Amino acid sequence: MKREGHKDDVFFGRNEREVGKWLLAGGDPKVIAGGMEIAIGTVYKYINGMCARVRVLDQQQLVLWILQHPSCLFQGVGSVPGLHIEGCECGSGGCLGRLTASLPPDEAEKLLRRGV
Ligand SMILES: [Zn+2]
Repeated sequence: MKREGHKDDVFFGRNEREVGKWLLAGGDPKVIAGGMEIAIGTVYKYINGMCARVRVLDQQQLVLWILQHPSCLFQGVGSVPGLHIEGCECGSGGCLGRLTASLPPDEAEKLLRRGV
């Protein structure tokens, strides 16, 4: 999906993208530090910096944001800061997961079968 660039777009650096991939894989900062062979303080510095730049409050929201903007993990691809609104039907992993989590199980299943 191609869209016009925007001056607020966030571009992650190489290490930030690496941290983002680890976070998506469910890694906590200690695991990430071991995997990337860097200090745990440095991992927190990356995570806090990424949270500030994409305008989310914490690591959990950062993971949701990455799921909503998976292309941010590619070099040179900018993404819009801020989380999608509640009930967003863009079809990204982040929003689809959040949408189905808010529905009764049979409704959620219907939605997942239909695709958004
Ligand atoms: Zn969305």
